[in-house]
Amino acid sequence: MHDRRGLRAIVFAGALGCAGPSSTPQGPGAVPYGFRGNQVWVDGPWADIEPSLNIDDVIDQLCPAIMKLPRATWRDHGQEYCGVIYSLEDGMFYASQPSPLAPTVLVGPSKRKRCQPPLHVMDDRGRPMPWADYHSHPWAPSELSQDDRRSSLQLYDIRIQFDTACTVMKLVPHRHEDRPGEVFVRRGRTWVLTGYIQPEDKPSGRVTSVNE
Ligand SMILES: [Zn+2]
Repeated sequence: MHDRRGLRAIVFAGALGCAGPSSTPQGPGAVPYGFRGNQVWVDGPWADIEPSLNIDDVIDQLCPAIMKLPRATWRDHGQEYCGVIYSLEDGMFYASQPSPLAPTVLVGPSKRKRCQPPLHVMDDRGRPMPWADYHSHPWAPSELSQDDRRSSLQLYDIRIQFDTACTVMKLVPHRHEDRPGEVFVRRGRTWVLTGYIQPEDKPSGRVTSVNE
């Protein structure tokens, strides 16, 4: 009887020590991102980015911080970084940690390391509500790629992309609405509308310039 109880205690302790894939790694050296199946998760918040009640204040801090990361500016041999902007119940917007994790299938000969927009963000303080994904391109000038614009690859209401010159683009895909998607570029402290993605063009991501 004594032996059986001891064994059960050991088995239970073992189960606690293996908390499963949804747990957040803790302690020094823990990587703040990972795969859950084919999807990427990231930790938040990213301490380098000051939170704000205004999402644009968060967006404006991202590029300078990302460009300090390894290989972020190395053009064909560069590394893209992907993350999420989310809010908590306090109404503040936070940036997640950036992730370099790549899609499971790499297409083409490019040595450039693409990243996969995270679908999950974890913050110990509450339940994150994701509003936007962000990612970098390791050269300039570089606008949103066709894949960046395709409706089937949109995860959130906003997609932010920037290049090594810190030209910041914003795509509002209006994913589930019968109205055009909108593409903006950041100029100073305003967003300037540069193009539309007509409803019939959403699957391809084709942009119609506002001047056409
Ligand atoms: Zn891109």
